Amino acid sequence: MPDKAIPVIQVKNLKKTYYIGETGIRALNGVDFTMYRGEFCAIVGTSGSGKSTLLNMLAGLEKPSAGQVVIAGKHLEKMTESELVTFRREHVGFIFQSFNLMPTLNAVENVALPLTFRGMAKAKRERLARGALRLVGLQKYMLHRPTQMSGGQQQRVGVARALVLKPEIIFADEPTGNLDSATSEEVMGLMQLIVKEHQMTLIMVTHDNHLATYADRVFRIIDGKIVSIEENKKVETEALEVQDKESIRSEEQTGAAGESTAKGKISDAGGDLP
Ligand code: ADP
Ligand code: MG
Repeated sequence: MPDKAIPVIQVKNLKKTYYIGETGIRALNGVDFTMYRGEFCAIVGTSGSGKSTLLNMLAGLEKPSAGQVVIAGKHLEKMTESELVTFRREHVGFIFQSFNLMPTLNAVENVALPLTFRGMAKAKRERLARGALRLVGLQKYMLHRPTQMSGGQQQRVGVARALVLKPEIIFADEPTGNLDSATSEEVMGLMQLIVKEHQMTLIMVTHDNHLATYADRVFRIIDGKIVSIEENKKVETEALEVQDKESIRSEEQTGAAGESTAKGKISDAGGDLP
């Protein structure tokens, strides 16, 4: 459940204009919102509406033209490049549409890679990487290279690589854009569970309305403006229904309230994260 008491990202009157020669393109035109700890937020809009621009500002990858981005109490728009690099390393994980895995490295080595920049010893890096891979259900694929895995498995490696840093925030830009619909559902379900379990804030941008149904809140963006923010009641209701059925069933079988299988699996593996 999102913790409304702890704001993680606060955006105020955010604007971004790109210039091509003399012509200005208003990619973001005054955006305001707050996102909270443990929340899965989807930013939904058509191509060219400003989704990637917004995500890049939130991640400190690009400077806004005006306005504020406050993350964990720090103003990103006031940071220098080297402060932003440190900020990203410590607080943020990324999941990419194109997976961005290193083709010559196996799954463990790919997931361990971001930990290198934290100056961690190899044995510890690989232990944490194996933990994150178990978390996403890839225990049998630890030594496989990207070309030896399906698209869905590669993106699960991508999810594990974002998780291994235990970031407060994960950014995902069209994370299932290169996956078929069944595999997309699987990856979305996985991300949804992990965010809840570890109380992370996940911000996903997508043009796909259906994928947005996995989020707690849906932010609609048109021409660089957020035009609506809706709570996704459906997610919670479905989760509750499943939980109810599961606990009724396990009460019938064992006389005790039980957790859903998927959740149990995640918590077991969760102990392996740093
Ligand atoms: P989305 O991710 O929703 O498809 P973008 O954020 O990539 O949209 O783009 C929003 C608008 O800003 C578009 O009109 C796009 O052409 C423009 N834009 C994005 N990046 C740049 C850039 N580096 N230079 C110039 N225009 C850009
Ligand atoms: Mg985009």
